[in-house]
Amino acid sequence: MTNSKLSSIALRTDNHDRDSAGFTYVYPVVSRRAGGVSIGINLNPNNACNWRCLYCQVPDLKRGGPPPIDLVQLESELVTMLDDIVHGDFMLQRVPEGVRRLNDVAFSGNGEPTMSAEFPKAVALVGEVLTRFGLLGAVKLVLISNGSQFYKAQVQQAVAGMRALGGEVWFKIDRAPQDGFSVTNQVQLNRAAVTRHLAAACAACPTWVQTCMFGLDGALPSEAEITAYLDYLACLPAQGIRIEGVLLYGLARPSMQTEAPRLTAAPAAWMEALAAQIRALGLTVKLSV
Ligand code: SF4
Repeated sequence: MTNSKLSSIALRTDNHDRDSAGFTYVYPVVSRRAGGVSIGINLNPNNACNWRCLYCQVPDLKRGGPPPIDLVQLESELVTMLDDIVHGDFMLQRVPEGVRRLNDVAFSGNGEPTMSAEFPKAVALVGEVLTRFGLLGAVKLVLISNGSQFYKAQVQQAVAGMRALGGEVWFKIDRAPQDGFSVTNQVQLNRAAVTRHLAAACAACPTWVQTCMFGLDGALPSEAEITAYLDYLACLPAQGIRIEGVLLYGLARPSMQTEAPRLTAAPAAWMEALAAQIRALGLTVKLSV
């Protein structure tokens, strides 16, 4: 296959448009943080998620789950994309110099990937295709998840399968989980359930906690909120939960939700100070502001 199958839009690091390759399930992005190209797998082409995070960058986000996934089409799109990246001139034509490397394949859709009934089959399929291209072990396989479906045996098994493929999970915990309504994620949470799900993720596959911090209505997260968040992280080892570390994000890109005008990016110094507090717990932090 050639790059004629792909559009000729040059990718910039701020271009995370999931339609930029003209595919349904597979899209390329340049990740500044990773310093390379990430191939995203979108199992939520209908822009539906079971959460509605205030900072979510999915346009026209609605509540719900994904439609059935056409795995034949997914395979075809992934093979086309990889063929152009590995054998074609995709990097030269579409990726800025300095970041012309394939870093990872990520289940990172316009909704929660593990809501898809085909998620386990999609993991196996991606592993198979990466093997075919000789990329297994050379690129990371990432699941970006809100963690809500980790009570399901099939999700746990699929994620355990990712471990064998050199995978990792990025598990969303934006604030210390409390029983009741989470303003940040616009969903009812149960603290014990979130912890159980995180434990299941860590048991299945190396897992990073992924946290987004921002100001709301002019106020940054309060000291009490930050203390609760740090205490939550600090208590994980005593519960036998070992995370790889924390991926700490600011508002790098604008929210596509109606609350967007109420959100502000936290100052870089504030984010740095929080990262230092997390590191003081003995955890690795990757900060992206
Ligand atoms: S879990 Fe992810 S896709 Fe779902 S609303 Fe939150 S940020 Fe958006």
